[in-house]
Amino acid sequence: MAEIKKTVKVPGEVKCMYCDGTGKHQNVKCVVCGGKGKVNVVDSTRKCQWCKGRGFSMPGIPCTNCGGTGATRPVDKQRLF
Ligand SMILES: [Zn+2]
Ligand SMILES: [Zn+2]
Repeated sequence: MAEIKKTVKVPGEVKCMYCDGTGKHQNVKCVVCGGKGKVNVVDSTRKCQWCKGRGFSMPGIPCTNCGGTGATRPVDKQRLF
């Protein structure tokens, strides 16, 4: 809420690769995007090298490198784990 005043332009918004933009994963709210289906990342042009942009390294487990976004690091989180 307090951060709304800062009108920082988001570097990039990408579809959440972990839930494939649905906002849900296995009938629960997606942990990566929080149910939005999209995530803001530091650089949307670069794919995560670790998961090759899939958002997960193993099914059911978000990629620890990109936090499940499939791109670079999420803006608001340092790491998911
Ligand atoms: Zn998601
Ligand atoms: Zn990744």
